Amino acid sequence: MIDPKPTASHFINGAYVEDTEGAAIDVIYPATGEVIGRVHSATPQIVQAALAAAKAAQPAWAAMTGTERGRILRRAADMMRAQNRSLSELETYDTGKPLQETLVADATSAADALEYFGGLAGSLTGEHVQFGEDFVYTIREPLGLCVGIGAWNYPTQIAAWKGAPALACGNAMVFKPSETTPLCALKVAEILHEAGLPAGLYNVVQGLGDVGAALVSDPLVDKVSLTGSLPTGRKVYAAAAEGMRHVTMELGGKSPLIIFDDAELEAAVSGAILANFYSSGQICSNGTRVFVQKGIKPAFLKRLSERLATAVLGDPMDEASNFGPMVSERQRDIVEGFIAKGKAEGARLVCGGTRLDRPGFWLTPAVFTDVTDQMTIAKEEIFGPVLSVLEFDDEAEVLARANDTDYGLAAGVFTQNLPRAHRMVKALEAGTCYINTYNDAPVEAPFGGVKLSGVGRENSKAAINHYSQLKSVYVRLSQLEAPY
Ligand code: NAD
Repeated sequence: MIDPKPTASHFINGAYVEDTEGAAIDVIYPATGEVIGRVHSATPQIVQAALAAAKAAQPAWAAMTGTERGRILRRAADMMRAQNRSLSELETYDTGKPLQETLVADATSAADALEYFGGLAGSLTGEHVQFGEDFVYTIREPLGLCVGIGAWNYPTQIAAWKGAPALACGNAMVFKPSETTPLCALKVAEILHEAGLPAGLYNVVQGLGDVGAALVSDPLVDKVSLTGSLPTGRKVYAAAAEGMRHVTMELGGKSPLIIFDDAELEAAVSGAILANFYSSGQICSNGTRVFVQKGIKPAFLKRLSERLATAVLGDPMDEASNFGPMVSERQRDIVEGFIAKGKAEGARLVCGGTRLDRPGFWLTPAVFTDVTDQMTIAKEEIFGPVLSVLEFDDEAEVLARANDTDYGLAAGVFTQNLPRAHRMVKALEAGTCYINTYNDAPVEAPFGGVKLSGVGRENSKAAINHYSQLKSVYVRLSQLEAPY
């Protein structure tokens, strides 16, 4: 079993760096509530050291060929896969997510991103546009110094989903993980450098929102990519706008999952479980408003309750466990507050929503029914294991209700009527849609939100546009004339 204690708080210019001047941040294992490590928040000197290292290292990295850069990223991907078990254990220590999940979803998806963008790096090009004898060619250039700021639900994945495309394009990165999960990004940095990444190109600094804010507003910074909540997104976007910096905003959601009468029942129940309870419900794209057509609702609720009763809420390090604790006491309190509101506003709790009598931040998976569109639990992002069932009659009605939210991260439809499925996803206001599945996120597909859920896309070739810019070069071969 991996020792979760970090070597030091920060990773700057290719090496671990400690500075105990910054405020201490305890690392708490969510399954037991025990303190398993400690890091220190970055002081202004640490922030400047990281930014300066990135700034200094970036030009030489950008001058390498894409193939050379990509080779290093792909080597890091192989190293991550080889260390998957220990990285998964670390992810479990950081987040409390069960090993059954982390073994297949975290370092593996980080490795996918490094491999995918490593593979793309050599084929990043501009284009050529002919104008008679003259022509324009474009040069795809890196943005320069990118800042990544992470949420706490997927610390390894987020560190790589931002780092891999940034580095592939020739940028340098300073990454600040969430203060709740400071461990995994340090390992990503360590592996990248062991794989041959030159010093200074991927740095990690710890801290709370103030450190994030200092990074975002520093004049050295060219781009900011945030994964976090809408309130933080508003602040970060505004601060980035001051310096006209590029942004990617991966924010929250209140996504609809729509189950028609003709859906295959067990698949729809599986979809609802994956859309609400994977990672104890702490996933931005979760389909938390489960619209169930009237005819299938009794059978759906019965099977959902039966199957949830078989969930194993055990030691996350035991691979037989498939449901872990909430990430923190604070997050559990927030979720419990929503559950109390749901009850007070008249929703009926079918099952779950209670603490377990053990240390750590355990909360059993909750299902509400009789939920109406105006209730708090149907309007606000909960970010915990709380599923709300809303009943509907027909397609036009459910479409209007599904879109009646300021968010637009994801949406899902379960039906065997494929024309209807495609009609629905065409009209659903969401960046990522699912038909007869939920929450798949392969690196080859764009991921991101519309409306208040965000700006830009992560993953896929689309991410390249968010970590590079085009320079146009007009070349005249014809005779140049002037009017006088
Ligand atoms: P959060 O907004 O509280 O914090 C996110 C990060 O921003 C943290 O690292 C935090 O320290 C930092 N931060 C806070 N204030 C800042 C400021 N003023 N300037 C710069 N940085 C600042 O979010 P969280 O509680 O860590 O994560 C949960 C949220 O993240 C949910 O809303 C969830 O939907 C969202 N999320 C979105 C995605 C996505 O891809 N769309 C993925 C995961 C999580």
